Amino acid sequence: MAKQLELDQVSVRYGQYTAAREVSFALETGEIGCLLGPSGCGKTTLLRAIAGFEPLFAGQIKLHEKIISNQGMTLAPESRRVGMVFQDFALFPHLTVSQNIGFGLQGLDRRNRSARITQMQKLVDLEAQGDRYPHELSGGQQQRVALARALAPEPEILLMDEPFSSLDTELREQLAREVRDLLKANSVTAILVTHNQREALAMADQIALIKEGRIVQSGSPSAVYRQPLNAFVARFIGQGAIIELSLGEHSLLEAHLGLTELAAQDPSELKRVRLLIRPEHVIYTPESDLQLSILGCEFQGACYRYELALPDRQTVQCLVPSEMELDPGATLPVRFDRKQLVQLRDELAG
Ligand code: ATP
Repeated sequence: MAKQLELDQVSVRYGQYTAAREVSFALETGEIGCLLGPSGCGKTTLLRAIAGFEPLFAGQIKLHEKIISNQGMTLAPESRRVGMVFQDFALFPHLTVSQNIGFGLQGLDRRNRSARITQMQKLVDLEAQGDRYPHELSGGQQQRVALARALAPEPEILLMDEPFSSLDTELREQLAREVRDLLKANSVTAILVTHNQREALAMADQIALIKEGRIVQSGSPSAVYRQPLNAFVARFIGQGAIIELSLGEHSLLEAHLGLTELAAQDPSELKRVRLLIRPEHVIYTPESDLQLSILGCEFQGACYRYELALPDRQTVQCLVPSEMELDPGATLPVRFDRKQLVQLRDELAG
């Protein structure tokens, strides 16, 4: 399938400071990508480079097979067909919903412009609100106007910079799913920038985890969740405990974790291991001989999340249906879903 967007070894510098380093990724037509990472890691810089607001120090960016930026050339933002949605929506307060949506359609004659505005209002379910001003709309409605305005000129790619972060948590996830459905139904290629993993998991076909300007890992949401390459990715996506064990110290625990067999395979390499154990990997099993002390619990509606102490006092979490109520101080018999545990090979202390 044709690549709609391709970043090849892209670096962006501010003076001597390199904010994006040798970043490569590509999106096919209709794919939604997400740049995910902590504050200051370079997400917005990459988005601005794709939009044409930042020149490249090295590498190149192609949109629909055409080079739009490289080391010596930056096609002006208005000459690349890119739509943008910002964190604060950036709607024009003195223009109505219809006028905001029609803002980028100056090239069309009146009839086509009006037809396109109507079509866009329908798309984002704001047909009845065309004459309202932004301040007369809810946060979610304003966000949909911003989306309609960005999509109206039929951009080749839609860039969204923290588009949901000014909305409350519940609305955020609901809108993230709605926007995904809308983009998918219209085969829009898009990039979302966020530091919110739930938004990333809900929306993206591909996630690129960024740290200090570099992509640490990229792949489908399930691949980065299930097979994080290192502790940074494991901590950033999903919940869970990262534990370190010196082999030979707790044979029952090691047997449960499947490390006895692993150690036998390659004893030289496995003196000390680091594992990611997510709550769903720890399974309440009444007949298990591994009893872990309960340190605390959190009611989550359908389940309790118990904080459990391993024999060496490191902790893991376990989800248990909420009809089972246990006190801190009691023990919980558990087993581990050994196939799902992830051995992390970086940053091993000691
Ligand atoms: P956030 O999630 O907080 O928005 P981000 O991941 O989008 O962060 P960027 O805005 O891309 O991060 O910034 C990356 C780095 O580049 C930061 O260290 C930032 O201070 C720096 N930076 C950004 N813009 C400029 C600029 N115009 N001049 C100098 N340094 C800049």
